Amino acid sequence: MEKIVQPLMQWFETHQRELPWRKDKEPYHVWVSEIMLQQTRIEAVKKYYTRFIQEIPDIESLSLISEDKLLKLWEGLGYYSRAKNLQKAARTIMQKYHGEFPRSYEEIMKLSGIGEYTAGAVASICFREKVTAVDGNVLRVMARVLGSRENVLLPQTKKEFTKQLAKILPQQAGIFNEAIMELGETVCLPNRSPLCGECPIAKYCVSCRDGLTSEIPVRIKSLKRKKEEKTVLILYCDGKIAIEKRLSEGLLSGMYQFPNRDGFDTPEQLKEKLHPLSISFLGKAKHTFTHIDWYMQGYLVTVREQCGDFLWVSPQELTEQYALPTAFQPFWKMCHSLPDSFIK
Ligand code: SF4
Repeated sequence: MEKIVQPLMQWFETHQRELPWRKDKEPYHVWVSEIMLQQTRIEAVKKYYTRFIQEIPDIESLSLISEDKLLKLWEGLGYYSRAKNLQKAARTIMQKYHGEFPRSYEEIMKLSGIGEYTAGAVASICFREKVTAVDGNVLRVMARVLGSRENVLLPQTKKEFTKQLAKILPQQAGIFNEAIMELGETVCLPNRSPLCGECPIAKYCVSCRDGLTSEIPVRIKSLKRKKEEKTVLILYCDGKIAIEKRLSEGLLSGMYQFPNRDGFDTPEQLKEKLHPLSISFLGKAKHTFTHIDWYMQGYLVTVREQCGDFLWVSPQELTEQYALPTAFQPFWKMCHSLPDSFIK
């Protein structure tokens, strides 16, 4: 394994992509980018990251920004608890560390929303601490290089690979960590498409030698997914649309949503309940969360008065001020594409 270190680091020197958060080793920048990248692809993160840093340039401003504004900036990235944890951690840094990002792996680990991977990435890249940072890309590269058929989704596999990596970690651990992640992102690609011909460590790779790259890594999910059906209502009245704030705990907490109910209501049931002026079926959408799949059907319902405990906002206000989770965005787009859309 130690033979992969030098070629990997040399390759990284010349092949690393230019990414906005690589311009400096500022911990705030590395931290925000790593959190964004946890569940989102690099290409999508770039534009969010740049806008986020422009609007919230430092830890102090992150600690002070309103939750609504923060979630609006995060809109579209999903997994909103990441944004809330960022702010919680920023407040801790302001209170406990006088605004200075903590410098050791152990201290970084204590911050909200930071796990072993992110703590390892920030500590090694920004503070040159000799620690590993093992994400999905690293697990894939490791499994293939070692020719390991262990299930990479199991914690014990991650633990074992982390142990092996710790043994070969060079002094410049940050560069090595970035290099192996970059290899996973750009060369040792998932599924059946690693670019072994371009790989700097191909001659040390068991999977490449033995033709196992389509079988490794082994990923066996044990998670039972839950399925939920929902009827989503775009309630419209006098140029305004009804939205409501979700509860402050749980899935998509604190975000705004279109009113919705569990199960699929028929138009007849909706007419009976809402006595609308008109009702039209918008379409279907599915959204996948970590453990749950939402199957949704949406209706545009024009009502007589701005009823209920909803917040009634104009289309412009909704777009500019309120964070609408990705799960509900398809219905908003469907409203835009109606032939006589009320959205100007
Ligand atoms: S040789 Fe191929 S399978 Fe092995 S690490 Fe490189 S890209 Fe991945």
